[in-house]
Amino acid sequence: MTFVRTVLGDIDPAELGVTNAHEHLICKAGEHLASTPEGLLDLELSDVDKSVEELSLFKQSGGQAMLEVSCPEYGRDAAKLAEISRRAGVHVVAATGHIMEGYWRGVLDVGAISDGELHHEMVRDITEGYPEAPGVRAGVIKVGTGREVVHPDEERMLRLASRVQRETGAPITTHTTAGNLPLEQVRIFLDAGASPAHVVIGHQDRRLVWEDHLKVVEAGFRIGYDCISKERYEPDLQRVQFIKRLCQEGYADRIVLGSDIARRSYFTSYGGGPGFTYLLWRFVPWLRQEGVVDDDIHRMLVGNPAQTFAFAPVTAVV
Ligand SMILES: [Zn+2]
Repeated sequence: MTFVRTVLGDIDPAELGVTNAHEHLICKAGEHLASTPEGLLDLELSDVDKSVEELSLFKQSGGQAMLEVSCPEYGRDAAKLAEISRRAGVHVVAATGHIMEGYWRGVLDVGAISDGELHHEMVRDITEGYPEAPGVRAGVIKVGTGREVVHPDEERMLRLASRVQRETGAPITTHTTAGNLPLEQVRIFLDAGASPAHVVIGHQDRRLVWEDHLKVVEAGFRIGYDCISKERYEPDLQRVQFIKRLCQEGYADRIVLGSDIARRSYFTSYGGGPGFTYLLWRFVPWLRQEGVVDDDIHRMLVGNPAQTFAFAPVTAVV
């Protein structure tokens, strides 16, 4: 029996429903990631009530599930995620793993942690639960890479994540910096024996390079168009065109959607915008208007997340 592992327990993948595949509900960035105190505060989502409010708005817009991909170096708080999920009535899947060198630098020295310890940490979070949040287990492994090169510790994490996937069946979702190096991630995952159908190569809509997107999906990986509404990176109109084209080429079953709007200034509940309703109330109608058919929209929002984030059959012994 396959399942999706949420912060409130395992569910049938068919129960997951309309899913936002990449967000943050509680997070805190390292000080080096902002140049001003105001900028740093903008990157901190710490108010449980406001996250419940924002997630409730997502539910009101038709949302049923969310991947919350914060790692320890980005302020993950699994106990709060469980509370937010319960109060908002939305499935939340939480992460284990580490994002990338640029995020953990100065916060957590991943380079000083042995392979054995990193492996143990991920398996423990997935199978036993987070030590800091008894009874709550991770349902996805988060790893990632930098802007220009894959740091040796990032490659180590991608390889360890692949091993943990083979041992536990857990899905993987990635951070790419500005959408760069997707083919490097693909290469490492394939070499390390990951299962492409259970790996999302993330943030690809921050770098709309058609040939690379085609290579990602042709290799069997899921592609994350998960920066929707962040028009300072790429205009949503181009996201719409790329998704439409991928659907026309027969790859609708490879795409997952999200908006990754982890800032107070993006959260309606903090007085910002566009908030969690943008994806379903604004972007999806736009796809429809441009001719993306309902079957494909349903795949991207419901079918693909259910398949991707379902635990795969285990092929190795822990
Ligand atoms: Zn993110």
